[in-house]
Amino acid sequence: MIDTVYIGLGSNLEQPEQQIQQAVDALKLLPSTDFITVSSLYSSKPMGPQDQPDYINAVAAVNTELSAIELLDQLQQIESSFGRVRKDQRWGARVLDLDILLFGNQVINSERLTVPHYGMKVREFVIYPLAEIAEQLTLPDGTKIKQLQATTAENGLFVVGQLN
Ligand code: ATP
Ligand code: MG
Ligand code: MG
Repeated sequence: MIDTVYIGLGSNLEQPEQQIQQAVDALKLLPSTDFITVSSLYSSKPMGPQDQPDYINAVAAVNTELSAIELLDQLQQIESSFGRVRKDQRWGARVLDLDILLFGNQVINSERLTVPHYGMKVREFVIYPLAEIAEQLTLPDGTKIKQLQATTAENGLFVVGQLN
């Protein structure tokens, strides 16, 4: 079984653009997974605590034979290898965040995984890059990504560059 998966990437510490570039390189090495594409790099305003740098975000698409929980394990290993330290403060600064946005058409509500990602329908830094790489996408609940984009403010989001 092969699922198309969309992964949200974010960083706001230690040269975020390079962190995202290197994280994309790491996604290309995932086992049992074919890399499809990645969006432009976007600059976005932080959620939650405002006393932290702006973020760089992107969304990548892959085809994988991994299960969702196997993929989460892999992504969390990558986050750790990039030196991400889990802190108590929610939405605090981080060198790398890798979130599973969509996993095929699966709906998952387990202790470790909520898919579709619970915030993806209201976060401009997810919706715009996702619409860029998958403009025909429909979420499992029938919501169209273009519709979300049309009703979501950019909130200071802008494209800062492309990855190699
Ligand atoms: P947010 O989830 O609001 O984007 P965050 O990404 O900073 O915040 P993390 O600290 O990266 O949150 O992750 C907290 C926990 O979220 C992880 O330990 C993981 O088990 C869980 N989680 C639930 N659903 C997902 C998902 N779709 N993708 C990644 N992690 C998830
Ligand atoms: Mg996140
Ligand atoms: Mg996360």
